[in-house]
Amino acid sequence: MSGFEGSFLGANDKISAQAIMECKICWTPYDPAEGDDTRQVLPGTAFLDLPDDWKCPNCDAPKEQFLVSEDPGAQSVIEASIIERRTELLVSDFNEVWHGKMRDVPLVNKLLHVQAVGFQMVDGRPLGVLISPWFMNLIQLPAEGEDWSDLKAGEKEYMSFPSGEYEFIHNSREMVGGYKACSLFSPMNDFKTQAQAVDVAAAVMVALFQEEHRAETDRSADIRATREAEVAAVEEAEAAAAAAAEAEADEAPIDTTPTRRQVITGGLSEGAEAAPQGEAG
Ligand code: FE
Repeated sequence: MSGFEGSFLGANDKISAQAIMECKICWTPYDPAEGDDTRQVLPGTAFLDLPDDWKCPNCDAPKEQFLVSEDPGAQSVIEASIIERRTELLVSDFNEVWHGKMRDVPLVNKLLHVQAVGFQMVDGRPLGVLISPWFMNLIQLPAEGEDWSDLKAGEKEYMSFPSGEYEFIHNSREMVGGYKACSLFSPMNDFKTQAQAVDVAAAVMVALFQEEHRAETDRSADIRATREAEVAAVEEAEAAAAAAAEAEADEAPIDTTPTRRQVITGGLSEGAEAAPQGEAG
């Protein structure tokens, strides 16, 4: 990978698509909003997407001679790289548990694997959903430089999001360090595929920030209601598929096939007791 001399960290994947670059020989700017009509580069073309043989329109200096002048998207690029690094550690930690202690535990769903979904910076801290073969948790990680090494495992904390209050449990692991986890589902036996689990995790990350889902007395009912239309279509398709499958195989137990609606609301409904999570908790 060729870096840009003097640019942020010298790595060309650290500039965003909005970065305005500047030739360090003649100070001619390249603004992605304008493109470069001397070389038929259309407006909206990011500097990173310019052809390798693109040169300074004024002095013919090669791309490598350009520096970052201004990068409105820099913060999101930095955040994305922080999130990538931190979620990799999280996934590594739980992969170790999965391939070690959890592998032969009966409650695990072997169709699933450990995956971080929808992580984003919320008030400076990475927040997202971790899927594993035995749980799906909302996870908050400390901000960069924040020390959570003294978190007491098992201690509870309530966190407020636009959709309501959520109970998080403190914990820590070797690689990722301290983290806070809110149980969404456990065990994971209702999920038939990883894609289905990812889908639900992504839906949780949207619903979490929707204020219209907030209701002090019955938050889950609200979430349920607003998802109804979307879910109904899926249910219909699944019911049709299940009916077809049942017609084919006498033993197909149709009533053990969870609908997507049950899956989405199951972990959020009141009284959904989290099963023992072994190493997850
Ligand atoms: Fe130039």
